[in-house]
Amino acid sequence: MEFSLTQMVQQQVEKAFNCATIPEYVQKILKCPKLVLEVNFPVKMDDGSYKCFKGFRCQYDNALGPTKGGVRYHPGVTREEVEALAAWMTWKCALADLPYGGAKGGVVCDPLELSESELERLTRRFTAEIMPILSPHSDIPAPDVFTTSKTMAWMMDTFSMFKGYTEPAIVTGKPEALGGSLGRKEATGHGVAITTRELYRNVGKSLKGATVSIQGFGNVGTYSALFLEEMGAKIVAVSDSSGGVIDKDGLNLKELLECMEKHKCLAKYEKSKIWPRDDILYQDVDILIPAALENQIRKDNVEPVKAKVISEGANGPTTPDADEVLEKKGVLVIPDILANAGGVIVSHLEWVQALSGLRWEEKEINDRLEKRLVTVFDKVWKKAQEKKISLRTAAYVVAIERIAEVYGYRGVFP
Ligand code: NAD
Repeated sequence: MEFSLTQMVQQQVEKAFNCATIPEYVQKILKCPKLVLEVNFPVKMDDGSYKCFKGFRCQYDNALGPTKGGVRYHPGVTREEVEALAAWMTWKCALADLPYGGAKGGVVCDPLELSESELERLTRRFTAEIMPILSPHSDIPAPDVFTTSKTMAWMMDTFSMFKGYTEPAIVTGKPEALGGSLGRKEATGHGVAITTRELYRNVGKSLKGATVSIQGFGNVGTYSALFLEEMGAKIVAVSDSSGGVIDKDGLNLKELLECMEKHKCLAKYEKSKIWPRDDILYQDVDILIPAALENQIRKDNVEPVKAKVISEGANGPTTPDADEVLEKKGVLVIPDILANAGGVIVSHLEWVQALSGLRWEEKEINDRLEKRLVTVFDKVWKKAQEKKISLRTAAYVVAIERIAEVYGYRGVFP
């Protein structure tokens, strides 16, 4: 059974509410988004015609600070999806102990059918439409599905033109020339590797020789592979939407990256094969990293999964009913809000650099990322041991308890 993102988030949060002492009024506040803006706006197309587009920006909760979250361009964007993703960002930022609430935005469009100049006009107009709720101290967008550092440059420029001064802190994920942070593009995969290593450390093992299979060989999958290999693990299988490749003795990542650089898909790699898409999930490996899409490990395909550890690079790759099966099988799942939090942690560092006018070296960024993720992992691990709950529920409990504590001090206005 496929779960909508909303159903997934709701079930995960309910579980956490049942394991934590969250005051009822906070539970009520956290069940609904604080603000959802829906906009409809025209864009002039290259042929001189006009098309109308629908967009959303949701700020789910801002008790901890300005809301943070990506903007996606996709034909399937819905208000419900944007709200669920904004809720996810809220738990992720709280878990990572960032001074941020959660947000998400989206425009219903097919970016592959738009020219670059149409995309630029769409981005600038969308930014203008949601500008009343944006600012470096209220809501800070970032790239997501089918939006890039270039999209962020257009958003930043539009915001700056309205304000009359340059405001680099309004977005993260910018090009480095505009103040984008070093280490940002590697950060999510780097975080997947760090949290996986920490799990191994906590069960008294080393990553040396541990075998890994990775679904998805885009930004997150690629950097997860590179950092895990650097930590001693052996990447034995990877796949993308075009096909996959397997080598029990360890894949040659350099060759694979060269192929991706040239052909943009794994199917063109000489040793690749086209296989049933779920096969990557069934490899006899120590660690499985879903780094592609949501709803990949479900009740109907979870039984043959052999990995003992799953580190969720993607958002929502495991459905709640599959999660229960994995828990019974003793599989340790590092939940998405922990495993892939490296991206938003470095986004926060980018925002801090923009606000302070400083530029940090890559080592400084990576040291801070490492330190924060190790601390957060430790908190989640201890909570899971103390309450005898899964790492996922423990991560939600840590995140929601933090938000509840802040509400406790701030109170409810007026
Ligand atoms: P991406 O577009 O760079 O890569 C996605 C990869 O998944 C591609 O290789 C694509 O071919 C592959 N894929 C798609 N369908 C597949 C299938 N059925 N089987 C196997 N592979 C398939 O995207 P990304 O930035 O790497 O993001 C991947 C996931 O990680 C998404 O869920 C995203 O929300 C999540 N995430 C990304 C970041 C980030 O910083 N990029 C941060 C947090 C979470």
